[in-house]
Amino acid sequence: MTNLLDLDADGLAAFFAGLGEKPFRARQVARWVHQRLIDDVGAMSDLAKALRDRLPALAVIGGPKVVSDTTAGDGTRKWLLDVGNGNAVEAVYIPENDRGTLCISSQAGCALDCAFCSTGKQGFSRNLTTAEIVGQLWHANRALLADGITAPWIEQGRAPITNVVMMGMGEPLANFDNVVTALKVFVDDNAYGLSRRRVTLSTSGIVPALDRLRDACPVALAVSLHAPNDALRDRLVPINRKYPLAELLAACRRYLERAPRDFVTFEYVMLDGVNDQPAHARELAVLLRDVPCKLNLIPFNPFPGSEFAVSPRARIVAFQKSLLDAGYVTTIRKTRGDDIDAACGQLAGRVQDRTRRRAIRLHSVPGAPQ
Ligand code: SAH
Ligand code: SF4
Repeated sequence: MTNLLDLDADGLAAFFAGLGEKPFRARQVARWVHQRLIDDVGAMSDLAKALRDRLPALAVIGGPKVVSDTTAGDGTRKWLLDVGNGNAVEAVYIPENDRGTLCISSQAGCALDCAFCSTGKQGFSRNLTTAEIVGQLWHANRALLADGITAPWIEQGRAPITNVVMMGMGEPLANFDNVVTALKVFVDDNAYGLSRRRVTLSTSGIVPALDRLRDACPVALAVSLHAPNDALRDRLVPINRKYPLAELLAACRRYLERAPRDFVTFEYVMLDGVNDQPAHARELAVLLRDVPCKLNLIPFNPFPGSEFAVSPRARIVAFQKSLLDAGYVTTIRKTRGDDIDAACGQLAGRVQDRTRRRAIRLHSVPGAPQ
């Protein structure tokens, strides 16, 4: 059985070529699946009868099963989605006046183990399939339409979700092939038809994969920086030991040659007493001199067992001012959905850790209990 949510335009064309069908069938089916959002392969009423009769034995349309559906006081809505074997991932809808944004997950857990991240602390189970990634957007649009939400663009016939950010659970560039296939579905005019500028991939900086993304499917880019020097970033974002700042920033510059936007967004989580001092802001301003960028300061969102605290508001504002004075467009991220644990870095889902990292970590830390 083929899940049609697993296939981008090329995949659908190959699937229908294998059935002896013309390429236009692929485009027709993509519109049924991603625009009319059907879940029944037998419902495509303008397909030739012979094909319509054959299809249900060969293909399904199915996203991950919804385990829970919670709406926060500010309208932010979080779905917990079962992806099998005891794993569940989260997708978050963030309504705004002029857009509807969906934050989606790319992996069950994450192997990169950033010190301040709830997903990272849970370990890693597996990559999501393309159908599980695309299925988050397919499901959100269906659920929001079924609830009758209104917005000017929905009245004009567009889907509720206008922007996608890959900032949920997982490191998207560590699941490269499935993520790129999903990105192609997001931007395909016969599928979701989102502009590349409205699809943002956030990465902690896997440099070779960033170079490959530039060729495969460049979309807007956010990079999780979090520190102005290698010594501190090595501690907070361990992948920095493999791809240090100079290499990462060079890759960002290469990426911008093909990117749909002419800047990178650097994300910087504000950790009390760790990376939020005036000297850090000054160091950051020098570090980023040669990279066209904007900065987004994210107040740290605590989660059970986290070892950090959020910087006091005045310190975050002072940090922002220092960067603004140095000429950088710098925003402070508004926290959304924190009353339902849907804020950045709080997405926990349910992860069956297969890396045994907790045990490894305990044994490798000097002085840790054995
Ligand atoms: N793996 C990717 C995308 C998912 S994380 C990445 O790291 O970029 C999305 C953003 O949330 C990243 O910038 C990440 O550093 C940030 N984040 C993680 N934990 C956080 C927390 N507890 N509070 C605030 N932001 C957090
Ligand atoms: Fe993984 Fe991103 Fe969390 Fe780091 S911040 S552990 S890369 S999800």
